[in-house]
Amino acid sequence: MSRDPRYDVLFEPVKIGPVTAKNRFYQVPHCTGLGWLRPRMVAALRGMKAEGGWGVVCTEYCSIHPTSDDIPHPYASLWDQGDIKAHSLMTEQVHEHGGLAGAELWVGGSSSANLFTNEVAMDVSSMPNASGVPYQTRAMDKSDIRALRCWHREAALRAKAANFDIVYVYATHHYLLSNFLSSKTNNRTDEYGGSLENRVRLVRELIEETKDAVGDKCAVAVRFSADEGGEGNGNPIIGEHREMIEMLGELPDLWDININDYSREMGVSRFVKEASLEAYMSYVKSVTTKPVVTVGRFTSPDTMISQINRGIVDFIGAARPSIADPFLPKKIEEGRIDEIRECIGCNNCYVGDGKSSPLRCTQNPTIGEEWRRGWHPEKIEIKGSDSIVLVIGSGPAGLEATRSLGNRGYNVLLAEADSHLGGRVARECQLPGLSEWGRVRDYRTNQILKMPNVDIYLENRMSADDVMAMEADHILIATGATWKANGQGNYNIQALAEFGPADQVYTPDDIMAGNLPSGPTLIYDDDHYYMASVIAEVLREKNIPVTLVTPESMVSSWGDITAEQAQINRRLLEVGVDIITAHGLASYDGTEAQIECKYTGKLKPITVEAVVTVTMRTPNDDLFREVEQKIAERLNKQEDYEPKSLTRIGDCEAPAIIAAAVFAGHRYARELDTEIDPDNRMKFDRVFYEEA
Ligand code: ADP
Ligand code: SF4
Repeated sequence: MSRDPRYDVLFEPVKIGPVTAKNRFYQVPHCTGLGWLRPRMVAALRGMKAEGGWGVVCTEYCSIHPTSDDIPHPYASLWDQGDIKAHSLMTEQVHEHGGLAGAELWVGGSSSANLFTNEVAMDVSSMPNASGVPYQTRAMDKSDIRALRCWHREAALRAKAANFDIVYVYATHHYLLSNFLSSKTNNRTDEYGGSLENRVRLVRELIEETKDAVGDKCAVAVRFSADEGGEGNGNPIIGEHREMIEMLGELPDLWDININDYSREMGVSRFVKEASLEAYMSYVKSVTTKPVVTVGRFTSPDTMISQINRGIVDFIGAARPSIADPFLPKKIEEGRIDEIRECIGCNNCYVGDGKSSPLRCTQNPTIGEEWRRGWHPEKIEIKGSDSIVLVIGSGPAGLEATRSLGNRGYNVLLAEADSHLGGRVARECQLPGLSEWGRVRDYRTNQILKMPNVDIYLENRMSADDVMAMEADHILIATGATWKANGQGNYNIQALAEFGPADQVYTPDDIMAGNLPSGPTLIYDDDHYYMASVIAEVLREKNIPVTLVTPESMVSSWGDITAEQAQINRRLLEVGVDIITAHGLASYDGTEAQIECKYTGKLKPITVEAVVTVTMRTPNDDLFREVEQKIAERLNKQEDYEPKSLTRIGDCEAPAIIAAAVFAGHRYARELDTEIDPDNRMKFDRVFYEEA
C-alpha cells in the first residue's frame, strides 16, 4: 500500500540545529517506570520506537546530579560512566533505525526529596517538598548556582559521550528551572530574581552553556510551558510566558512546548480530547523561527497534517500514542491507517511512574517486554502446530488472544454469548466520556474480521457440553467477571449481613444494561477507580440525587496515579454529587443505609431508595470448572477426545484492569506451542556499575 500524498508533509526532514530529523514524528520525553534501574529494557523500548519510524526518540527525565533524586520513581540519570554506558545502549538502537536520540536533562528542585542519595535538595528559595515529603529545600546561594551550572554542563558532556543528538534544558513542570522563572515562587533579590530578565537568567545561562559544551554535535532543546497556569479547563493564562519565549526565542535549536497543568497536558480521554493544547500554542510559532513540537495525543494523521499545515507546530510530539503504537509513523508512511493501534487515553502507562514499576499499556501489551520477553509489537512467531483453538468470550482478553493467535496462523473459533464483540469494553465505552475506550475492541475487531483463519460465533453462550462437542485442540476461556451486589470488598471483607431488598441494590452491570434506579441513590465505592464516578454521572444525567460514599479519604483515589483524580472530583461536584469520604457501608434495609466512619466506627443514617455497590467482581469461572470436570470424567472413561490444554485468562481468572486482560490474551497467544521455562519466564534487567 502506498501512502496518501496528503501525508507527505509528515515525512519531510526537519533541521534541528546541527542535526536533522528524518521526519516530523517526535517522541517527546516520557517516563517508563524503567529509568536508570532497567537499562536494557528501556533501550529496547526506545529502539522499537525508532524502528517504528519515530524521527526523534527521547529519554525520560534524566537527573544531572545526585542532588536531583526522585526515588521511588525510576527516573533516568547521567551521573557517571555507568550511565553513559546504559544510555549508549539506547542511542545505538535509535541510530540503527535512523532516528535522533534526545536526552532530557533534569534538575528536580523542590520536587525531589533525595530519599536515595540523602543529599539536601535545593531550589530558588527554601520551600516545601512538592510531593508532600516533610523536607524543605535549601535556598540556592551563588555558589550553588555556579555548581548547578557546572553539573548541567558535565551532564550535557556525558549525554554527548553517550551519543545523544539532542540535549534538553528542562524548564517546566514545576521543577527547579520553572521555579526560577515564576514570580510566584521566585522571591530572590539578587540578579536571579525580580525582573523578568533576572528570572530568565539561569535558563538563558544553561542554554548558552549547553550549546557551548555540546552544540558542535548536539542540538539544544528547551522544554517550556506555553502558559503560566489556568483553571485546568483549557482556557490558558499565558501570563509572562509569551515574553519569556520571545526573549529566548532564537537561542535554543528547538522548542518543546507543553503546559503547566499535567492533568490537561496528559489528560485522560474522559476529560481531554485530541489536539487539546492548540489554544495554548496559538502564539508560539510567531515568536520564534526555531522548530516547535508539542503533544496532543495525536493518533489521526489528518489532525497531524492540520497542525503542520496551519503552522501550529513543526513536529508531531507524542508520548502515549507512541507507547500504544510504536509503529504509528510506519503505518502512516505505508498507507496502513486502519492498522494504527490508537491510544485510548486511559493513562495506565503513567502508573509505571507512580508505582515504580515497568509501564503497561492497555492497547500495546508488548511495551516494556521488548527485551525481557523478546516481544515485538508487529511481529509474532508463526504457529507451532496445526492445532485449532476455541476461544470463549470476546472481551479484551479473548479478542487479543484471537487476534494474536490468528496472526500466528492458528485456526481460531471465537464464541461469544452476546450479539456483538468486545465484552466489558463494549459496555464501558458507552459510559460518559469513555467512548475512546472502544478502540480496544475496534483495533482488534478490524484485524480479526480480515482473517480467513478466524471464525466468529456470536450469540453463542457455550455450555460445557458445547465446548466439548467442538473438539478443539486448545480451549481458552475468557468469560469475564460480574460485579458483586453484596457489599463485599476491601472494606467489608465479608458480604454484608443486612443488605437491602435485591431489587433496590444495583451494580455497575445493572447500570450498563440500562437497569437504573429512579430515586435518591447511594453509590458505594470500594473500587476507587473510575467506575463509581461514571455511574454517578449516568444517574445525575437522569436527575437522580446521588450520594457517593467511599472508605478512602478521597474519591477515586487510584485516579491520582492515572492523573485524573482532581478532574473526577471536580466533575462530581459540578454535576451535584454529594461526596462522603472515610466511610464504609454497614447496612441497608431498603429505606435507610447506615454508613460508618472508618476511624471511629460511628454510624450515620442516609435515607435512599437504592444502593449501587461498586466494590469487587466475581470471576465468571463456572464454565472453566465445568469443562475441567468434563475432561476429568472423560479421562476416567478414556474416551477419544482430549484437549491438549484448557486455560482461563483475563477477568475470569483474576478480575483486573483492561490492560491486564489484553496482556493475558497476548501472552497466551505468544506462548502457545512454545517452551517457557516455568522458573525463568523472562530475563531480568540489571543496572550497570563502573568504577569511576
Ligand atoms: P475480559 O476482560 O477478561 O476479556 P470481559 O468481561 O470483557 O472479560 O468479556 C467476557 C466475555 O465473555 C463477554 O463478552 C461475555 O458475553 C462472554 N461470555 C461469558 N460467558 C460466555 C459463554 N459461556 N459463552 C460465550 N461467551 C461468554
Ligand atoms: Fe494510551 Fe492507555 Fe496505552 Fe497509555 S496505557 S498509551 S493512555 S492506551
